[in-house]
Amino acid sequence: MPPALEEDASIDTLRESARTCRRCPLWRDATQTVFGEGPPRADIIFVGEQPGDREDLAGKPFVGPAGDIFDAILEEAGLDRARVYVTNAVKHFKFQPRGKRRIHSKPNVGEMRACHWWLAKELKIVKPRLAVALGATAAHSLIGKPIAVTRLRGETMTRDDGLPVFITIHPSFILRIRDPADRRAERRRFLADLVAVGKAAASSVASIRR
Ligand code: SF4
Repeated sequence: MPPALEEDASIDTLRESARTCRRCPLWRDATQTVFGEGPPRADIIFVGEQPGDREDLAGKPFVGPAGDIFDAILEEAGLDRARVYVTNAVKHFKFQPRGKRRIHSKPNVGEMRACHWWLAKELKIVKPRLAVALGATAAHSLIGKPIAVTRLRGETMTRDDGLPVFITIHPSFILRIRDPADRRAERRRFLADLVAVGKAAASSVASIRR
């Protein structure tokens, strides 16, 4: 187990502590903990599902193919990745070996709940004004119950602590669409979601500053 954390722990202390996390079995087969990245305080926190193969090797979130498309669309939406905090609901890569490849495997509810311990601490330190749930696992972890992402996509739910959570898809969903026209349409939809996120974050900052 990682050492106990002080109440006023910094994000760097948290990241360091998570390196030795054994709260669930996922650490055993993964290369390393992939902790969140971004400024220690950020208006927006993006939460994905779990690191993928590339993230596991690099030790950084959203650097694989899904991260590339996320970065590109983030920029098109006018959001600066350097000013947002990006993390995952589950911080170790879960996979099934297939030959030389490691195929992504969805984390179960027990793993997601175990890792929520870290996400809750990230939220406490980063103090975002808006959280963005990228996919069902992130939405479940942030809201605390299963969320129908297809039905609630584009909507903002409010957590018990008052934090608004914008619901959308995980960018890896776009990559899995085979038909080029459908893929382009989904990309446009995700861009519209991120534009809405930028507006929602700007208006929440404005309302707080008024
Ligand atoms: S997935 Fe999360 S809870 Fe499980 S060992 Fe890794 S950091 Fe700990």
